[in-house]
Amino acid sequence: MKEEKPIIVVGAGIIGLFTAYYLLQEGEKVLVLDKGTGQDGCSFGNAGMVVPSHFIPLAAPGMIEKGIKWMFDSESPFYIKPRMSLSLMKWGFSFYKAANQKKVDNAIPVLRDIGLLSKKLYQDLNHKKLFDFSFEEKGLLMLCKSEEALHEETEVAALANKIGIEARVLTKQEVCDLEPEIKPDVSGGVFFTGDTHLYPNQLVAELRKYLIAAGVEIKFDTELIDIECNSTAVERLKVRESNGEPYLLEAKKVVLATGSWSEQVGKQINLNIPVQAGKGYSLTNPQVAGKELFTPSIFVEARVAITPMLDQIRFGGTMEIGGINAEINKNRVNGILKAIPKYFPEYEVPYPAENKIWSGLRPCSPDGMPYIGQHQRYKNLYFNTGHAMMGISLATGSGKLISELVTNKKLSMSTQDFSIHRFD
Ligand SMILES: Cc1cc2nc3c(=O)[nH]c(=O)nc-3n(C[C@H](O)[C@H](O)[C@H](O)COP(=O)(O)OP(=O)(O)OC[C@H]3O[C@@H](n4cnc5c(N)ncnc54)[C@H](O)[C@@H]3O)c2cc1C
Repeated sequence: MKEEKPIIVVGAGIIGLFTAYYLLQEGEKVLVLDKGTGQDGCSFGNAGMVVPSHFIPLAAPGMIEKGIKWMFDSESPFYIKPRMSLSLMKWGFSFYKAANQKKVDNAIPVLRDIGLLSKKLYQDLNHKKLFDFSFEEKGLLMLCKSEEALHEETEVAALANKIGIEARVLTKQEVCDLEPEIKPDVSGGVFFTGDTHLYPNQLVAELRKYLIAAGVEIKFDTELIDIECNSTAVERLKVRESNGEPYLLEAKKVVLATGSWSEQVGKQINLNIPVQAGKGYSLTNPQVAGKELFTPSIFVEARVAITPMLDQIRFGGTMEIGGINAEINKNRVNGILKAIPKYFPEYEVPYPAENKIWSGLRPCSPDGMPYIGQHQRYKNLYFNTGHAMMGISLATGSGKLISELVTNKKLSMSTQDFSIHRFD
C-alpha cells in the first residue's frame, strides 16, 4: 500500500508547532522541518504574554511621528536601521498606508476576536494538562509615568471596555497595592484583568515533546530551499541538511510558518508577503527576595515588558528593524535597563554579560495583522506567519484557524483580513 504523504509544516517556532498540534487534532499525519537547531529562536526568550488587550495594530495613527522621534535616540524602544533595501522601502510604504484610523478601526474587532479565541484555546489546553507551560491568569498592568501617557491609556481602556475587554484605570496607590514590594513610581496605570501569561521556553519544549510522543516527526537542521509546483499545486519541497546534498520531500499539503524568513520563502513561489525582522532583547533574572514582582506589566512610555515566570523575572523590549542578524546593540539593551529604575525606583538591573542577553526576530507584517491563509493558485500551500509582537498570544488561534482551512472545516472566525495575498 502506498504510504500517506504528510502535511509538511516548515518552521518549528511557536506558530509552526501549534499548526502541527491542531493538524494532529484533525487526525492528519504531520512532518515539521526547521533549518535551526531547535535550541533557541524568537519563540523562546520573549515576554510570554497572552494579551487580548493588544487589539490595536502597531501600524496606527501617530506611530510614524513617534517612530521618527525615537530614531534620533540611540536608547529608544524603536529603531529602523537605514539601509538600501527595496524590501524595507516597500514595507515602510505599506506601513504608512496602513497607519490610518479607518484601517485601525477595521483591524480592532478582528484582533480582538483572534486574541480571545487564542486565550480560550490556551485555557482549554491548560485545563487538559497535556503538558505544562506555567499558564497564569493574573492580568496585565500598563504603567504610565506621565499624566499624558495615562490619559492616552485611559482612552484605550474606554475603548477596550466598549468592545468587551475589561480594563480598569488605576491610581498610583492602586498600582502599588498590586505591586507592594516594588512600589512603582508612576502617575497611574490601566489594568487589563483578562490578560494572561506563560513561560515560553517551557511551552516550546513541552509542546514539542508532546507532538513527538503523539507521532509528529520534527526534523531540525533541514532547510527548505525550493518549492516545486505544477500549475495548481505544490508537488515537492527541495530541502537540505547542513553540508548535505539537496533532496526532495513529497507533501500532501504545505504550511509555511517561517517567521522572519517568510518574505524570502514567499519569493520561491513569486508571492509578495512583506515581512521585516523586528529585533527585541530580553534578560531573565531570579526574583529578588523582598522585591518580588507579581503582575506582568508594560512600561508604557519605554515599551518594556516585565513578566514573572516561575521564580524568575524577565525584562524585554525594543523593536529594531535592521534585517536578519543576531548582533547585540548595547545602546538598545541599555535603554531597557535604564527604564527599570525610572518606574521601579528601588530596582536596578546591572548590564549583564553578553551571553545573558537574549535576542529574537519578530516577524513583522506592515499592517500589524498576521498572514493566515491559502495560496490562490497553489491550493495545497498555506502561510501562517507575520505575528510580530503577538506570536505567543495568537499562536493557538492561528494554529486552529490554519488547521481548519487546511482540512476544510468550518472556521472559528473569518480569516479574510489575514489574506496572504493582500500585498500582492
Ligand atoms: C523581546 C520580545 C518579546 C516578545 N514578547 C511577546 C509576548 O509577550 N507575547 C507575544 O505574543 N509575542 C511576543 N513576542 C513575539 C513572539 O516571540 C513572536 O511573534 C513569535 O515567537 C514568532 O513565532 P514564529 O513561529 O512565527 O517565528 P520563529 O519562532 O522565528 O520560528 C520560525 C522558524 O522558521 C524556521 N525557518 C525559517 N525559514 C526556514 C526555511 N527556509 N527552512 C526551514 N526552516 C525555516 C526558523 O529557523 C525558525 O525556527 C516577543 C518577541 C520579542 C523579540
